[in-house]
Amino acid sequence: MKHFWQEAEDLCRVAAGSDLAGAGCYVIDAADLPAGTDFAACKARAFTAGNLSRTMEAWLTACGRWTGPGFCTIVQRSEFPTYNAACAIALHELAHHLGYLALANQVELAHRWGVAVESPAAAWSAAFAPIAAPVVPWEGHGLAFIRASLHIAFRARVLHSWLGIEALRVAGPSYGLSTCFEYADAIGDERTERAAEPITTILATEPPAEFTDLFNRDVAAFHAATETEGV
Ligand SMILES: [Zn+2]
Repeated sequence: MKHFWQEAEDLCRVAAGSDLAGAGCYVIDAADLPAGTDFAACKARAFTAGNLSRTMEAWLTACGRWTGPGFCTIVQRSEFPTYNAACAIALHELAHHLGYLALANQVELAHRWGVAVESPAAAWSAAFAPIAAPVVPWEGHGLAFIRASLHIAFRARVLHSWLGIEALRVAGPSYGLSTCFEYADAIGDERTERAAEPITTILATEPPAEFTDLFNRDVAAFHAATETEGV
């Protein structure tokens, strides 16, 4: 059996296709991190950032895994009930990465994480700082993230037929949103019709109106409910 990280990297490569062509693709099991790395401090079971591969470059090189900058995520494999669940969460993290690329906010992320190359110690402390509590429950997991996830899950099924969109932990009540299945319905045929396009290209275009409408209705309903609570 392959290591978890190898399986998850294969899955991410298949799902990302040309979006990761020529780029590195790294899924790191938090248990493999060097002793003394306090990954738990970031209070996330999985973590990625636009420039995390650079933060991890020296370590990946020492492991013989470095093939250049690209997608990098750290997953606490032990926190997930099954091997498949942990693989699926790597795809969730890939959706974040493609979202960063599509939204072209790597500059901001590079600024935040890019100290890695000059100062590994500073990078560690920055990379593993606690993540701030979200202002709204879907923060970081909004429209572009859901759309990327739906495409990723659809493409990854070529390699793993067991994979359902729900395994990626997308939308649903924990994010204050409709379920991932309702979003899958709303996106319609986009996943099949645009299956040959890079996901980042798709993300740079307007989503189907029904998909956007569903998200806007969810956001409005959340704020209406929050205001009612506040009265
Ligand atoms: Zn996430």
